[in-house]
Amino acid sequence: MTSSKLIAPFGIYSPNPIFPRTKSKGSVFSVKPVTIVSAKKAIRTGKLKYPSEKKKLKLQKHSPIDERNKLGGVWGIFKLEVSVDKDPGNDFLGVSDGLLEEIAKVLKFPVASMLPPEAFTVVRKSFDARKKEQKFVYTVNMDVSKLLSLEPRTIDFISELEPKTGLIEHLTDQRDSGDFCDLISIVQNCRKNDGISLLTEGLAPGNQNGGSRVYPYSRKPKVAVVGSGPSGLFASLVLAEFGADVSLIERGQAVEQRGRDIGALVVRRMFQEESNFCFGEGGAGTWSDGKLVTRIGKNSYSIMTVLKTLVHFGAPKSILVYGKPHLGTDRLVPLLRSFRQYLQELGVNIKFGTRVNDLLVEGAHVVGVGVSDSVNNLESASLELGYDAVVLAVGHSARDTYQMLLSHNVDMVQKDFAVGLRIEHPQELINGIQYSELANEVQNGKGKVPVADYKVAEYVSAEYEDTPLSSGPTRRSCYSFCMCPGGQVVLTSTDPSELCINGMSFSRRSSRWANAALVVSVSSKDFEALNLHGPLAGVEFQREFERKAATMGGGNFVVPVQTVTDFLESKLSVKRVPSSSYRLGVKAANLHELYPQHITEALQHSILMFEKELPGFISNNALLHGVETRTSSPVKISRNSDTYESTSLKGLYPVGEGAGYAGGIVSAAVDGMYAGFALAKSLGLYRGSIEHVLGKAQNTGLIKY
Ligand SMILES: Cc1cc2nc3c(=O)[nH]c(=O)nc-3n(C[C@H](O)[C@H](O)[C@H](O)COP(=O)(O)OP(=O)(O)OC[C@H]3O[C@@H](n4cnc5c(N)ncnc54)[C@H](O)[C@@H]3O)c2cc1C
Repeated sequence: MTSSKLIAPFGIYSPNPIFPRTKSKGSVFSVKPVTIVSAKKAIRTGKLKYPSEKKKLKLQKHSPIDERNKLGGVWGIFKLEVSVDKDPGNDFLGVSDGLLEEIAKVLKFPVASMLPPEAFTVVRKSFDARKKEQKFVYTVNMDVSKLLSLEPRTIDFISELEPKTGLIEHLTDQRDSGDFCDLISIVQNCRKNDGISLLTEGLAPGNQNGGSRVYPYSRKPKVAVVGSGPSGLFASLVLAEFGADVSLIERGQAVEQRGRDIGALVVRRMFQEESNFCFGEGGAGTWSDGKLVTRIGKNSYSIMTVLKTLVHFGAPKSILVYGKPHLGTDRLVPLLRSFRQYLQELGVNIKFGTRVNDLLVEGAHVVGVGVSDSVNNLESASLELGYDAVVLAVGHSARDTYQMLLSHNVDMVQKDFAVGLRIEHPQELINGIQYSELANEVQNGKGKVPVADYKVAEYVSAEYEDTPLSSGPTRRSCYSFCMCPGGQVVLTSTDPSELCINGMSFSRRSSRWANAALVVSVSSKDFEALNLHGPLAGVEFQREFERKAATMGGGNFVVPVQTVTDFLESKLSVKRVPSSSYRLGVKAANLHELYPQHITEALQHSILMFEKELPGFISNNALLHGVETRTSSPVKISRNSDTYESTSLKGLYPVGEGAGYAGGIVSAAVDGMYAGFALAKSLGLYRGSIEHVLGKAQNTGLIKY
């Protein structure tokens, strides 16, 4: 008898003698909550539910799934755990036999090998290193029509499926099923649906929300986007797609020249104030690890839109699937080149080597910018350029720009951020701590498991601080930040008299070192303790310790270092310090004397706590580098939460990290994208609802990454 004869007519239940259903109660596979964060404080217990989850659960209780619906559409199957020995490895994003076994358990289908892999798509893969037995954890979408057509005997099992929030769900929304669009298609669809065709329809209304200046009907609205980091690029893309006449003004250089400038810095100590690790095409994140993780949500529509757009410009599709996607500098550079090319094809006028020195203001309205040639620093080459609106996407290191905004009385307030040191360990040590025996599988980023990372966080209360309560916060968060596995420590100064560092890596993360910032939150009380006041007190606070670090290093961009063990004992590392990935040289110094005592003590205390989470973290081979000060913006430029316009200056749109609304590549891109839509609306280029198209904007205020 052929198996097809056993198939029941579609939708009719028929007990199947060959495939007895396992009637086990409860879940067929035990699932534990997956949290990548290793810090105890950050772990969410299974009982706690986010409001969205509660709502979802409530809805599901009230609307049992229709039998017919079950047999169509897409089911999402979550938290499928596959052991390392059964998985082809980190780079494999297809459906392996090991994964089919786990899917079969959920479906209670007895013969895993009979499930057709084509019916399943891996939508998320991550590696969970926290458990004794490390596992790959998958989310899979199951296309029911495909499954039933390729293996009709699954029908009985599908009709018995019951949704369980977070484990198996019938995906009704197209977005839930992973069908995301890139930003280009989204804006083009909006334009189609909106029916706005600027100029051809004679529609150039301007000033829709009382924001940007009224511009003449005969031309497109002119917008200056200042800064070509992720926020500026995404804002430019939206505005240009909506038909604005966009100029993208960047003080630094295009990636080709910027690469040469960075090379000259690293090899010959030739420092360019306007073209370096912070300034230039792509912004601060170009020579970075290119981590695309963010705390503003994992799979939200806006984040997936940003990731899809990066794929459009050349990022590998795998970033849509990995739980912790990252690009690496080598992939970011060509991606930015194609982003630039696309913008230019849209008519965006990109002006590299051009610094905005001033805003042209008439009444309470921005009407343009004053620019100069940043390469030759010729004041004589200063120009005044008129615009209907200015998007300010300058990043957190544009200290001169903050000063200029202050001179125009633009509303700005201090913002909490974090300072500390960058710690570097041999990558092998971190692999060993995180993976034990599995560490051999890393193989410099080419092995089965990803190069190990970590994320630790603790609260340190004031009892550990040797300061009166009034001079500092009662609780400080201490955490690792911007971890770069297989990376290197790099110089992020924008002034040669100051010294600060960060980390970067290439896509394979194959270097011998693992570095991460270890930072402590600071706020106005810390600034006041140093007699620093006003909106830019945080900037001065950063500067104070960057100068101190430069002095401790002895100049020439040499970085002061101290072993972790000596830092904990507050003594100079007199013996030879372990080697560092930092290319411009390191010098043993008393880093424990760099920050005020209460910050040093908070760092020391948190390192002891981190050792409990990651035994071996405190090691003679772990080297602290000074200083990490630019973790996020020290100021917030106040803006209207709906229009994104400055609360004090019409036509000015502060966005991204520098304005205090983002903390990393993805959150900056998301902010630029929303701001682009808001400005397009204000200029009359878009009439629809932003929320309807992109989802609700997240509050990205204090987000780090
Ligand atoms: C070394 C390093 C590694 C990092 N690694 C990561 C990572 O792995 N993942 C992650 O998510 N984030 C990372 N970050 C942080 C991330 O790069 C930033 O959060 C992000 O780039 C902020 O984007 P933005 O558009 O707001 O500003 P930026 O990217 O800082 O861009 C601002 C741009 O404005 C230009 N500009 C400034 N002032 C002016 C002016 N007056 N006139 C004209 N142009 C001006 C600057 O040259 C710059 O190009 C890293 C940062 C650094 C420095």
